[in-house]
Amino acid sequence: MKMTDLIQLKKEKKTLSKDMINYMIKNYTSGKIPDYQMSSMAMAILLNGMTDEETSNLAIAMKDSGDIIDLTDIDGIKVDKHSTGGVGDKTSLIIGPIIAHYNLKFAKMSGRGLGHTGGTIDKLESIPGFKVELSKSDFINQVKKINIAIIGQSKNIAPADKKLYALRDVSATIDSMPLIASSIMSKKLASGSDVIVLDVKVGQGAFMKNIKKAEELANLMVKIGYRANKKVSAVLTNMNQPLGNYVGNALEIFEVINTLKGNGPEDLNEVVKEIVVQILINSNVFKNKKIASIDVDNVLMSGEAYKYFEKMVHSQGGNVASLKDFHKQFAINKKEIYSDYDGWINEINALKIGNAAMILGAGRQIKSDKIDHSVGIQLNVKVGMKIKKGNLLATIYHNNKGLKESDKLLRESIVINESPRKKQKMIYKVIKK
Ligand code: URA
Repeated sequence: MKMTDLIQLKKEKKTLSKDMINYMIKNYTSGKIPDYQMSSMAMAILLNGMTDEETSNLAIAMKDSGDIIDLTDIDGIKVDKHSTGGVGDKTSLIIGPIIAHYNLKFAKMSGRGLGHTGGTIDKLESIPGFKVELSKSDFINQVKKINIAIIGQSKNIAPADKKLYALRDVSATIDSMPLIASSIMSKKLASGSDVIVLDVKVGQGAFMKNIKKAEELANLMVKIGYRANKKVSAVLTNMNQPLGNYVGNALEIFEVINTLKGNGPEDLNEVVKEIVVQILINSNVFKNKKIASIDVDNVLMSGEAYKYFEKMVHSQGGNVASLKDFHKQFAINKKEIYSDYDGWINEINALKIGNAAMILGAGRQIKSDKIDHSVGIQLNVKVGMKIKKGNLLATIYHNNKGLKESDKLLRESIVINESPRKKQKMIYKVIKK
């Protein structure tokens, strides 16, 4: 087999067989196929597409290029969730403890943030002492004992995807549906879980800017999961404005704690509940969506799910006492932003808010940037709210870095109009096989 022949085939819109895809990924990972040939193939795929079968085969070949997390030692149903990335998206940290309460197993590997979106691991590191690196046996034993552990992504998960993603980034081949779907699913399939729910974010602050594209991606990923014998469903959720009221690492942990104690904001609760209900139905804990949803409400109100968050923090070396007054972890400098007008909040641009938080130090512009866990933005308003001149719109928690620029972006992101705007839908669609 020769890579030039495979590129030629794809250039002619022909289908690559499973053996061809396996050959290509194996030899690209080992370095035998050079970047320039793979780059040419990525462009041929972008222009000419792939069948669903080719896309699944590519996902599986990339999954098989590295470690596969073996969770077979853990009894029970293993659950994973994935978000395509958003602003203020702290759902994993709420969903994990809730499903742990239902005796499902949440053995999760998460990533760090880059650009305007935050990462679960960065958020957890704002808890003093919290360890995001555990040995494999400590990780498995913790899940066996308390049903939940969240750690940083193992370095050798789907190395072929890591290499190909970096190449796509510099060869204008990121935005190919088969390449995006196979990239995400290669890592999910390696996670060793039985049930996977994908939160596909749609809107200004998301990778997918419109529902049509998001639906296409979700359908493709669900099909890949099905072919790999996993129970996968996808939820399309709104990411036009940030999720919840807090953006920034310690600030988001504060909101996680409140939500797990039954005091979460409406939009965050809605997204969390939809994903949890999908997990509970797919895991056969409940048959009826409505009953599941009422039960989840009760679990949140009772504080039962919060107990699992505390158990996880304790087990991973975090300071449990700090959770009581977690706002003490916020930066001490505050800047409050007030409205100059009477009117209605028509827009809070998630992308701009994400960037405003990143500039303060809450996120990374480039991979090597260091994070300041204490900084971020508290939003006091949401789209659809009526406000008066002088009302508090937002508070910036900062350490004097990037304040001016962040303040400007934050003000730009909040659009106030004379007439109200219809309340935005949070859940657009659920896709399953
Ligand atoms: N996220 C991924 O992991 N891969 C892509 O290709 C795009 C987003």
